[in-house]
Amino acid sequence: MTLLLLGEFEDTQVWISAIKTHQPDLKIEVYPNFDNLADIDAVLVWMHPLGVIEKFSNLKVIISTGAGVDHILRDRNLPANIPIVRLVDKSLTSQMSEYIISAILHFHRQFADYKIQQNQQLWRGLSPRNTENCTVGILGLGVLGSDIAQKLNILGFSVRGWSRTPKILDNINCFSGETQLNLFLSECSVLVCLLPLTPETEGILNQNTFAALPQGAYLINVARGKHLVEEDLLTALTSGQLSGACLDVFPIEPLPENHPFWRHPQIIITPHIAAKTIPACVAPQIIAAVQKSQEGLQLNNQVDVSKGY
Ligand code: NAP
Repeated sequence: MTLLLLGEFEDTQVWISAIKTHQPDLKIEVYPNFDNLADIDAVLVWMHPLGVIEKFSNLKVIISTGAGVDHILRDRNLPANIPIVRLVDKSLTSQMSEYIISAILHFHRQFADYKIQQNQQLWRGLSPRNTENCTVGILGLGVLGSDIAQKLNILGFSVRGWSRTPKILDNINCFSGETQLNLFLSECSVLVCLLPLTPETEGILNQNTFAALPQGAYLINVARGKHLVEEDLLTALTSGQLSGACLDVFPIEPLPENHPFWRHPQIIITPHIAAKTIPACVAPQIIAAVQKSQEGLQLNNQVDVSKGY
């Protein structure tokens, strides 16, 4: 069996040794250095070059190195019958929840304002905010959204979530579908985007969405850059409709040098690190996907291509 690493990898050696620790005899090659197109049984991909996957005549599975698969589905020439699987991993989920909790507490406990006061050597307490009265809304109640929803609930926030299909989650006020979007947004002091990027969700963080939030709401986008209409965010920050934003993802990454977000006082930027895959944590599920696909067995975390996630 041969697994090919295809696309952008920070360090292919780390991936290879993590996988080989669990299965030393698995042959692993790194694109574009491989012997024969027909030898490739499985590809592990992140932002792969387009027009390549269709050439592997014996391919049995496409594995994403992350939770999202928009980077795979942007390839319009994927072979129709090859399953795509994504990673669902405890370390990814906890990193994501830690990131969102940090961003929310930074906003909720007014650290940015205290930093400004510190620069002025000003010793002054600001009015405290009641956590119960701070409603956090999570767009997307999947693996990541439902974990952060539960953790925020334990911290005492009032939590609501929005998904495509109806959900029931303990202590979470659940909304679903287009028709309930504005009702969901109407109370959110903080809005967190954890949706997959699909034709339905692209551009969802726009002027209309911001207008439906209470004035002064805070935005956290940890899903994908194309969820956000960047001009609309700048306008909402200028008008005060939004009080700030914490952004981990951008339509063009790295964020271009001259981008207005870099120096915007109300925007916090991180370089797509909210939840980064740790090869050693996910190696066993990659191997399981390769083996099961070889044996024609049902795969875990298979993507429904018709839904786009
Ligand atoms: P998931 O388990 O597939 O959950 C997706 C959620 O979004 C589901 O609740 C789904 O609703 C909802 N949804 C999808 N389309 C919708 C629509 N049109 N309207 C309303 N709700 C919709 O995904 P996940 O594992 O939580 O990951 C979410 C995203 O996070 C990934 O796709 C990826 O882009 C992003 N991510 C970012 C980072 C980072 O470092 N920044 C790391 C990991 C992941 P249903 O439950 O009804 O299906």
